[in-house]
Amino acid sequence: MNRLKSFGGIRLIGAVIALMTSSVLAQLSAPYSDDFLSRVRIAATSIPGDYAESIGFAKVAESHRPYSDIIEDGSDALFISARSAYQLRFPSGTIMLDSGMDEEVHTYYGFGRVEPYWQETNDQLQQALLESQKILITHEHGDHVAGIVRSPNRDALAAKTLLTVAQLETLTLRPQLPQIQVSPELASKFIVLDYQDLLPVAPGIVLIKAPGHTQGHQMVYARLSGDREFLFIGDIGWSLDNITQLKLRPAQTIARIGEDPEALMQQMIWIKERMDQDGLIIVPSHDDRLINRYVEEGILEDSLVLSR
Ligand SMILES: [Zn+2]
Repeated sequence: MNRLKSFGGIRLIGAVIALMTSSVLAQLSAPYSDDFLSRVRIAATSIPGDYAESIGFAKVAESHRPYSDIIEDGSDALFISARSAYQLRFPSGTIMLDSGMDEEVHTYYGFGRVEPYWQETNDQLQQALLESQKILITHEHGDHVAGIVRSPNRDALAAKTLLTVAQLETLTLRPQLPQIQVSPELASKFIVLDYQDLLPVAPGIVLIKAPGHTQGHQMVYARLSGDREFLFIGDIGWSLDNITQLKLRPAQTIARIGEDPEALMQQMIWIKERMDQDGLIIVPSHDDRLINRYVEEGILEDSLVLSR
């Protein structure tokens, strides 16, 4: 009888611990608390080594959309969506952020229209991916990940590509388009990880969890050797205007993608504060005009460093 009682007690303690754990996790997952940037900055110093010195990119394609597709209450003016991947250049090698895409996947995003695609640039991007030490993916959409999962070198690239559990789950079970579906065999070749809210992955480089645009979406913080701080925000906003004006994509676009608008708005508020209060350089993946401005200002380089 006593033994039974004590088992019951253990069960009760177990239930209390489970309850405490779930409430602790709920607090942890409350996004972007006041000290979050300071935690990101400390995490950025947690891997010894030299910071990246510069950042380049390659634009492999453009999609041409009315601005009204990009932001709620937008006009009919043309918005050029740049399809790009970024190269973080360290003294001892490179880390790639996103991977471009082949022309077939690009055609999917044209919705029947023929839009600019530069094969030679994508070939260079493939070479840069091959020569890199590590590949990070903002999210599991074709224009960011097809350059890995559809590459002739996919096995070699997968072996140094960090995918989150959520990203891999989408790519294997419900990919955005059939052409980017990852087979169980390919899935087994990636470096797969999960983390609570942030994860340092290289000197000065921190992944920041940001589900909303997709389940596996993340931002990437990068501190460079010159002390510039970048925040690659993926597709949280397609334009910097989404952030500065705190405006989501139009409702029909949110519905088409299946986004979580509340999560996106929380992320946009945090990003705007980091830009206004902390001077972080915000890089949305697709804002062609902004990226060109960064090139003119010497903040980004429109090129990839290759060994040959
Ligand atoms: Zn995208």
